[in-house]
Amino acid sequence: MTLTDAQRERFSRQLVLEGVGEAGQQRLAAARVLVVGAGGLGSPAAFYLAAAGIGAIGLVDFDVVSLSNLNRQILHGAGDLGRPKTVSAAERLRALAPDVDVIRHAERLDAASAEARVAAYDVVVECSDNFETKFLVNAACVRAGVPLVWASVLGWEGQMSVVVPGRGPCYRCLFPPAVDLDGAPTAREVGILGAVAGVFGALEALEAVKVLLGVGESLAGRLLVWDGGTGAFETVAFSAQPGCPVCG
Ligand SMILES: [Zn+2]
Repeated sequence: MTLTDAQRERFSRQLVLEGVGEAGQQRLAAARVLVVGAGGLGSPAAFYLAAAGIGAIGLVDFDVVSLSNLNRQILHGAGDLGRPKTVSAAERLRALAPDVDVIRHAERLDAASAEARVAAYDVVVECSDNFETKFLVNAACVRAGVPLVWASVLGWEGQMSVVVPGRGPCYRCLFPPAVDLDGAPTAREVGILGAVAGVFGALEALEAVKVLLGVGESLAGRLLVWDGGTGAFETVAFSAQPGCPVCG
């Protein structure tokens, strides 16, 4: 597949980038990325993936747009209240990048459907706001052998990493079943600043592009933590747990 003149101009600033070039751009155009959650993280992640020229973007979300979403969920606008998020998100992504194939999955992933869903994609970008979905998607990606980029944000801070099945730790290695997460705070209680979700959604898109291009050093085996209150980024190495119920 060769690039059209319009694509050459649209992507001119990344075609000259070391690690991308024409071959890399073609690889992105052939890539399929699944974004789980079209909210605070999924909005910037999907936006930047579409802008980068990813060929097909799957969107999983069963929710509709509400007014309280709009401080951070930048794929949706005031005119979208009450509409399914996958619909407003798809419109916005196509308006930005008419070539992108947006595949809407207006559903809640469950244990029965998750593995088949993720297996149809090259990379999964996990953007949900709950542990349950993250555990489900992690297990599905490890079983299907599909790389996973995940992030969590709350308040003024967030954390993220990358799971490359068969090489390094998974999400469950970090949060083994013995860790009690039942009382963990939620964005509804603690709040979330939109720009914090924006930072992590953009970083998730970046990690997905790196995985697809096979360039740079992915965050696999490293937890990136950022406190927006102080501006401090930190990465902490972590290892696969031999007794991990998912990847062990
Ligand atoms: Zn594991």
